Amino acid sequence: SCLIIDSKKCVGCGICAKSCSSNALEIKNSKAEVNDNCVLCGVCLDACPFNALSIEKEENSTFDCSEYSDIWVFAEQHKGEVLPVSLELIGKGRELSKEKGCNLSAVLIGSDIRSKAEKLIAYGADKVYICNDSDLEINSDERYTDIFSRMISQYKPEILLLGATGFGRSLAPRIAARAKTGLTADCTFLEIDNETGLLHQTRPAFGGNLMATIICPGHRPQMATVRPGIMPIQNPDYSKEGEIISIEYEDNIDKKIKLIEDILAPEVKTIANAEIIVAVGRGIGSQKNIALAQKLASLLGGNIGVSRPLVDIGWSSQNNQIGQTGSSVSPKLLISCGISGAIQHLAGISGAKNIIAINTDPDAPIFNAAHYKVVGDCVEILKSLISKIEETGS
Ligand code: FAD
Repeated sequence: SCLIIDSKKCVGCGICAKSCSSNALEIKNSKAEVNDNCVLCGVCLDACPFNALSIEKEENSTFDCSEYSDIWVFAEQHKGEVLPVSLELIGKGRELSKEKGCNLSAVLIGSDIRSKAEKLIAYGADKVYICNDSDLEINSDERYTDIFSRMISQYKPEILLLGATGFGRSLAPRIAARAKTGLTADCTFLEIDNETGLLHQTRPAFGGNLMATIICPGHRPQMATVRPGIMPIQNPDYSKEGEIISIEYEDNIDKKIKLIEDILAPEVKTIANAEIIVAVGRGIGSQKNIALAQKLASLLGGNIGVSRPLVDIGWSSQNNQIGQTGSSVSPKLLISCGISGAIQHLAGISGAKNIIAINTDPDAPIFNAAHYKVVGDCVEILKSLISKIEETGS
């Protein structure tokens, strides 16, 4: 698509240039000219009093979305172990495939990985596409992109979901660019539109101040990455049967990246996998009171978590931060103390199974996400919980 300027109608008044926030229009020789900054927002069309501007839309009549069906999940594995986020996505994909009445497939790529196919079927996949080759021992963007591109052309999936891991974030845009389709990164919510059947892909936008729901109506597959820890893993059913389809590996790509060495980064302890979390926010009042939350977490065999302001003021390390710019957590129990429940914080706790929220404000938004609501002073409640557990030993 491009911006068209009708030189017969344009009088060079400059109103369009003033209206453009991208500095994409200049007046040269008494006529408007557009440059590469243009984002086709269309503001100048409304501003021009002479109807001299229009946007020419690219014709896309050849793209037939109806040829595309089924939902695919990229079953990312490292050293042969399927990542939990892939199982989370298979659970979500199962739900979406039921709504759409289509098959759910997992795509497993790697070396010596055939034995993992049954696991993916047990967790909900109807089919598993396997590309197994010793050349694929180390995850490679270039090789995986090539394999996915060929598979998409051949099997035509309607939806493709990937985990927003380091590798997933690097791979997904490459696949989307090859398939000439859209990609919504870092989704926190996915659902099928009942009327159109399109995938609604919801993610925080504008610095996390609002949630945007994005659709991809004109191209396929509809692609999304989802952050780990947001969607629950469903229970496996090892009696479930499924189809396994082998994909041949073709080493015919012009590789631009040469792997010199594969070094594992030292493991950083995070709260992403903790089963019990005592999370504290600004309502805890002082840095010394955080020790109370730490104490309760230790008594319960859990970890401490914090809201972002506590990291910003240096009361806690970023490793403990929960939320959009911290970790997404999915504990069995989350005790939230003095946290208001801002949208950016809630984005990280949607996977928690049980949330007990303690807040002095009965209208705090955290209570909308909580399963149990305690209106009161979290410092006092933490103290009495600790002494109760110490007294009774449980
Ligand atoms: P507040 O909002 O100040 O809430 C304190 C709460 O404590 C209030 O509800 C109050 O009623 C209650 N309270 C006060 N005293 C007591 C008491 N004695 N006992 C019990 N309750 C009490 N935030 C995150 O947490 N994680 C993120 O990843 C994150 N990412 C962000 C990304 C962006 C781009 C932006 C713009 C913001 C982000 N934020 C994030 C910040 C977020 O918007 C909120 O500002 C933050 O979550 C608020 O933290 P809080 O709930 O601890 O503090």
